[in-house]
Amino acid sequence: MTTPEDIPVEVTLLGTGTSTGIPVIGCTCRVCMSSDPRDQRLRCAVQVKAGGVELIIDTGPDFRRQALREGISRVDAVLFTHHHFDHVVGLDDLRPFFFGNKRPLPCYARANTAEVLRRMFPYIFCDRSYPGVPHLELFDVNAPFEVQNRYEEGPPVPVVPIEAFHGELPIYGYRIGRFAYLTDTSCIPPHSFDRLKGLDVLVLDALRHEPHPTHFSFDEAVAVAERIGAQQTYFVHMTHSILHAEEDGVLPDGIALGYDGLRFVC
Ligand SMILES: [Zn+2]
Ligand SMILES: [Zn+2]
Repeated sequence: MTTPEDIPVEVTLLGTGTSTGIPVIGCTCRVCMSSDPRDQRLRCAVQVKAGGVELIIDTGPDFRRQALREGISRVDAVLFTHHHFDHVVGLDDLRPFFFGNKRPLPCYARANTAEVLRRMFPYIFCDRSYPGVPHLELFDVNAPFEVQNRYEEGPPVPVVPIEAFHGELPIYGYRIGRFAYLTDTSCIPPHSFDRLKGLDVLVLDALRHEPHPTHFSFDEAVAVAERIGAQQTYFVHMTHSILHAEEDGVLPDGIALGYDGLRFVC
């Protein structure tokens, strides 16, 4: 029998930058001017392929560009971590996924996130009378759930929400198989560490070296990564204080910087 942990997962990092994206508009610092493509960071999101379904975690302002870059042609479900602009504002760009498949597209979020999404996008979630709006169904989740295949018959894929805090704001990370994604995090409560055991790959928020009230700094992220003990951890949501070539090699074994377009299987 296959347990949820046995599901092979293919992950693509769609974006790994902080809320401004890197380069920052108008900035001429060495990271913003860098010719290393790994220093160009779109807003944070990932694509996860597992058990025949394709999930997107967060649809920020760069979602359209990320979907075109990675050739994304289907979406079975969208998972939202929280409601901040850099994670949700590309939601309307999900419309093309309805052109050939009229089935509703389920979106999953914590209740506080879902409530703000309904306020931000009333024409999508409340009054669907406007022609051509994407048929998104928003579910508040507070326990593990299953994502269905939206295109053909197939087994459901289990997803585990991981409760965490972004400053005072309760947010979700998500675990699928032996992969977990935790962006925009400054605190992980003890019960969530229990859900992060036995990971192959963890993607974790690590903003910059200086402390920040709502994101892990590099030192904090290293300590959390070591406590969780995934075989490999990738840092994301980095600012323009982080030059990839300089910082990547000096992290402890099993911890590295993520970059846009990085793909792995676990
Ligand atoms: Zn963010
Ligand atoms: Zn945020």
